[in-house]
Amino acid sequence: MSKYKCKICGYIYDEDVMDTPFNELSDDYKCSMCMVPKDLFELIENEQLEKKEEKKLENAIPIDSDNIAIERDISRCIDCGMCTNICKNREGINDICHGKACVNCGQCIQFCPTGALIPKKDILKFKKAKEEGKILIAYTSPSVRVAIGDELGYETGSFIPGKLVASLRKLGFKYVLDVTFAADLTIMEEANELIERIKNNKTLPMFTSCCPAWIKYAEIFYPEIIPHISTCKSPIGMMGAVVKNYFSLKNNIDKDNIYTVAITPCTAKKFEIAREEISGTDLVLTTKELSDLIKNEKIDFKSLDDSEFDSLLGTGSGAGVIFGNTGGVMEAALREAHYILTGEELDKSNINYNEVRGMDNVREATITIGEKQINIAVVHQMSSAIPLLEEVKKGTSKYHYIEIMNCLGGCIGGGGQPKAFNEKQVKEKRIESLYENDKNSNIRISHQNPDIIKIYNEYLEKPLSSRAEELLHTTYQDRSNILK
Ligand code: SF4
Repeated sequence: MSKYKCKICGYIYDEDVMDTPFNELSDDYKCSMCMVPKDLFELIENEQLEKKEEKKLENAIPIDSDNIAIERDISRCIDCGMCTNICKNREGINDICHGKACVNCGQCIQFCPTGALIPKKDILKFKKAKEEGKILIAYTSPSVRVAIGDELGYETGSFIPGKLVASLRKLGFKYVLDVTFAADLTIMEEANELIERIKNNKTLPMFTSCCPAWIKYAEIFYPEIIPHISTCKSPIGMMGAVVKNYFSLKNNIDKDNIYTVAITPCTAKKFEIAREEISGTDLVLTTKELSDLIKNEKIDFKSLDDSEFDSLLGTGSGAGVIFGNTGGVMEAALREAHYILTGEELDKSNINYNEVRGMDNVREATITIGEKQINIAVVHQMSSAIPLLEEVKKGTSKYHYIEIMNCLGGCIGGGGQPKAFNEKQVKEKRIESLYENDKNSNIRISHQNPDIIKIYNEYLEKPLSSRAEELLHTTYQDRSNILK
């Protein structure tokens, strides 16, 4: 088997990985990275490859072999340094620590021009669990349904949960649940935590906690601000806990025989589920890994009949859906905070918080709810958060509540998503698609979700109850030692 390299961008066509020998590709084949025609590829001789493998990389960011989320195929690496630039300029990391700390966000994967950086391959773990006869349960994050279509022949931003659920059933999952439900659960806990902190003059501002790359960043670079981070687990952290405890109980399944797989846009979730404080999710597969699995299993995705999520933990509100967008967690929490503080339902015509929408790296506003004024900020892309974090560290922050998402655009732009060659356009379409779904949802506020009402009535009692604290909340650790 041979490898062919694009002379323009360096992309490697590897016959070992692809099904078709290069010479058998049709004449209109184009480079998957830069779209130049086939005749601009050259065969790479084996000696060249061997030399490459021996070569010490000078510009590429170091990826440790024990990195839980990201790996590098050195034979594809052209040492262009794009990964280093992204880590430095977007994440604000590499210039501080020179490759010592990785928050596993996978943005380097998104910008690697040759596909040398990829999410750690975990598909074999799924296959092993299937062979062992485990009860397979999948749950999918909101942003997967607006991105997986990019890899499977759909227009960018297509909202295709029905096909996604059907493909997961075809792969052998007995239950397919919706992380949108857990996003609603997160909001129930987090909005109540915020109001409790405000009413009782506890530590403020409070930061959102659903982005594991942001959490790891804080633990490494700003451990002083840990008390400011909401103690809520992320939606996937909560989902794992309620599937293994509540769902298994309701369905009379032995929880030790369950194997849970979160399908996410996010490489950093591979790190999150390995944290000792979080348990319940056995495996994370990214959107890209799932689309590869669907292709490898030769599932004809487009011709599948749409399928619905299973009931109980399969219903989400519009507020949960917009979690995938930058500003979405904030907006969902504000809708809920309005109900908690006033006891009144928001009018449908007044439900959007447009102040927190958009793509500016930092958006800030003062939101009036009842008699309270809440100063908020929304940030995406880690480097943009540094000035706000410095203010919090100094004790001069004016905010009550801050949402931070590592990836530009939020989770729709996660490191495990299909690559967005036209980044701005692709991200805008995914964002628009989630907002459109929220707009068309009958339920747009988390406490109205019938599955949420049920789980509190039957099991959790109320937000911040002792069982909710035990299952749905977590702690963080100072990881600044990594830098020493
Ligand atoms: Fe993961 Fe979303 Fe955070 Fe990106 S913004 S690291 S996809 S949780």
